[in-house]
Amino acid sequence: MLIVKKFGGSSVADKDRIYNVARRCIEDYQAGNDVVVVLSAMGKTTDKLIDLAHSINSHAPKREMDMLLAVGEQISVACMGMAMHELGVPSVSLNAFQVQMHTNSTYGAAKLKRIDTERIRNELAMRKIVIITGFQGVNKFDDVTTLGRGGSDTTAVALAAALHADACEIYTDVDGVYTADPRIVPNARKLPEVSYSEMLEMASLGAKVLHNRSVELAKKYGVQLVVRSSLNYNEGTVVKESAKMEKMIVSGVASDKNVARISVMGVSNEPGIAFKVFNCLAKNKINVDIILQSVGRGGTKDIAFTVAKNDVEATVEVIKENMDVFTAESYEVEEDVAKVSIIGAGMTSNPGVAAKMFEALSTGGINIKMISTSEIRITVVVDAYNADRAVRYIHDAFALAE
Ligand code: ASP
Ligand code: MG
Repeated sequence: MLIVKKFGGSSVADKDRIYNVARRCIEDYQAGNDVVVVLSAMGKTTDKLIDLAHSINSHAPKREMDMLLAVGEQISVACMGMAMHELGVPSVSLNAFQVQMHTNSTYGAAKLKRIDTERIRNELAMRKIVIITGFQGVNKFDDVTTLGRGGSDTTAVALAAALHADACEIYTDVDGVYTADPRIVPNARKLPEVSYSEMLEMASLGAKVLHNRSVELAKKYGVQLVVRSSLNYNEGTVVKESAKMEKMIVSGVASDKNVARISVMGVSNEPGIAFKVFNCLAKNKINVDIILQSVGRGGTKDIAFTVAKNDVEATVEVIKENMDVFTAESYEVEEDVAKVSIIGAGMTSNPGVAAKMFEALSTGGINIKMISTSEIRITVVVDAYNADRAVRYIHDAFALAE
């Protein structure tokens, strides 16, 4: 079997953890498998490197940022190679340049285009464990790129796809994917399996177990993933095409506090206004999420939408500059809001799910500010201070606990 094993920063945070990972990889290797290991930077290394960069230049060039951040993963793979050597097992560490993991040139958010597998295959053929840097790539100028925060998961899935691996295991410091964040809901239950689509919704809604793009990629290439802990041997959560035979209506509750609500008020109630607003935002690369438009009264209406917190400044700038174009009377920014969502593939075929969610919120006396739905998700925007309570009330209402 060819196994790709990816370990996150917490799993390689110090010497003991590095040896722990080395031993786990060696177990698979000694059982006769080909083992490819993908590593993130140790512990909080990437955060520290970002702080360092900002202390030098708060507008550091993106190319230099990537050159710096890629160092974190290189430290991990080199140290892992040393640990395996100490344990007497042949291994080789490789960075993105040595493998040749080709990406486009969008520094800080590069997309993988192609991975050369020759070097990896050759090393595996020599019965070595191959240890590869996550998160980084190389562009057509032979410059170092990075895939964006959390990007090592994507590296692992891309490698699994390119190598036609038999298994792709993503190791982290939690046992798998839960019905809710166990820090918010202590009796949340670990899901034995979850579908790609559900996982995608969960990831984008703040359950940060897997990098979104890794799940997209896994779905595209049919790479089955297992999310599990590097600190125990508990069974993890399998992420695959379609989940469970006996479908749960709701698989999980997720919350996301990285949201702000912006309202543009008193715009004229005529065709083309929404187009102008969202076209302007799109041109400025601002991602808008939930949109709400009020019923027009007296010739005017209000348009409200959510953006990520770090886009607030840019959004306000766009609005200020375009008040006339948008025919807006005023605008309002609320930063203390959060999204709370339920996710479940079985939702579409079961009426009353939304009602049940809203009932739970009303039981908690929690006011809903916005609502949005998709086939497998219902999201509400609530005041940030209510977010955790909302998650608990909803989790209870759907009896998701153990
Ligand atoms: N080290 C990178 C980060 O912290 C990539 C990763 O951990 O996946 O974002
Ligand atoms: Mg991660």
